[in-house]
Amino acid sequence: MILILQPNIDSSSQEFQRIREYLRQFPDVKVKVLELQGETRGVSEVHLIGPTHNIPIEVLQSMPGVEMAIRVSTKYRQIGRHDIHLVPVGFTYNGVHFDQDSFHVFAGPCAVDTPEYVEATFKFLKEHGLVTARMGAYKPRTSPYDFQGHGAKCLPWVFELAGKYGIKVIAMEVLKEQHIDEIQEELEKAGRPTGVMLQIGTRNAQNFELLKAVGSQTDHPVLYKRGMGLTLEESLNACEYIASAGNRNIVFCLRGVKSQMAAPHRNLVDFAHVPVVKRLTRLPVCVDPSHSVGSKAHGPDGLMEIFHASAQGVVVGANMMLVECHPEPEAAWCDGQQSLTFKEMEQLLADIAVMREAYEKRVETFSRSMVEDMTKE
Ligand code: PEP
Ligand code: MN
Repeated sequence: MILILQPNIDSSSQEFQRIREYLRQFPDVKVKVLELQGETRGVSEVHLIGPTHNIPIEVLQSMPGVEMAIRVSTKYRQIGRHDIHLVPVGFTYNGVHFDQDSFHVFAGPCAVDTPEYVEATFKFLKEHGLVTARMGAYKPRTSPYDFQGHGAKCLPWVFELAGKYGIKVIAMEVLKEQHIDEIQEELEKAGRPTGVMLQIGTRNAQNFELLKAVGSQTDHPVLYKRGMGLTLEESLNACEYIASAGNRNIVFCLRGVKSQMAAPHRNLVDFAHVPVVKRLTRLPVCVDPSHSVGSKAHGPDGLMEIFHASAQGVVVGANMMLVECHPEPEAAWCDGQQSLTFKEMEQLLADIAVMREAYEKRVETFSRSMVEDMTKE
């Protein structure tokens, strides 16, 4: 069960003390308080964990200070919406706000390779008004003979260059707990010129110890990529490990699922799940057309299939896009076959703008017709 406290009521209030007092009759029920800070308001949630079936919900609902009492219907209690319109407050990290209404493009190479390429990428992003990037220092590769990423040694110059070009957040994959510490240490040493969104790759989508590790720090948000062979339900439960360990600043990323049916794409595009994840959870949702499609094939209409996949995500309300681009894709050390040139990236940004506008128009048209229907009744 979750109690949402009224605005301005928090765990230090008398109202909360009374609720706590009442709950003492149920000694097996653990009480956990979460204070969330959104853009416009703070929300205090009281999570009741354990055998809550015999707690009368009406009593709690009518207690002073309680805005809403909700019986939790899914196991992903912290990230879930639980059928009721819980306010998905989102979070702000390093000056960038993420919620189910915002939209950000995180573009860049698959892997950090040379300082020249990285600098050219940050410069390109800055010239296009973007403050968010992607690039991996630690790469989980299918073959042990492929480039595994530069590791911690590239972090000082990557962070310095990011700061030079005003990049506020870099999505960067971590493969083990030590990588979180290395990123944290190098950010501190460099004087925090940028921020890092810790990425959990699809291959680690059920690495519960790693999920707990990114969850038990709150310095950096987490980009959780859906497991390529997991059901949505399994991935949401895995994601809950992050939240239940203490970090609710999570973005859920759809990146296609592995299936023979995906051919000739690398993965089967699952972006129809954008509104599903927004309905089931309070998390902002990201789409990754690069790893979904996996090539730069064009449709007969002249548009790349990566663009078409991206459109499918944006037009249904994605809040973030992770996309690979590189100054010289043919020379990239990783995933060059699906990396856009800067020229192509410019075209994609224009296409994204069209799709985002279309999404906003769709929402507006729909809400207008709903209001009209209501006034007729
Ligand atoms: C990536 O985004 O760099 C990546 C490896 O993606 P995924 O984990 O989705 O394969
Ligand atoms: Mn890649």
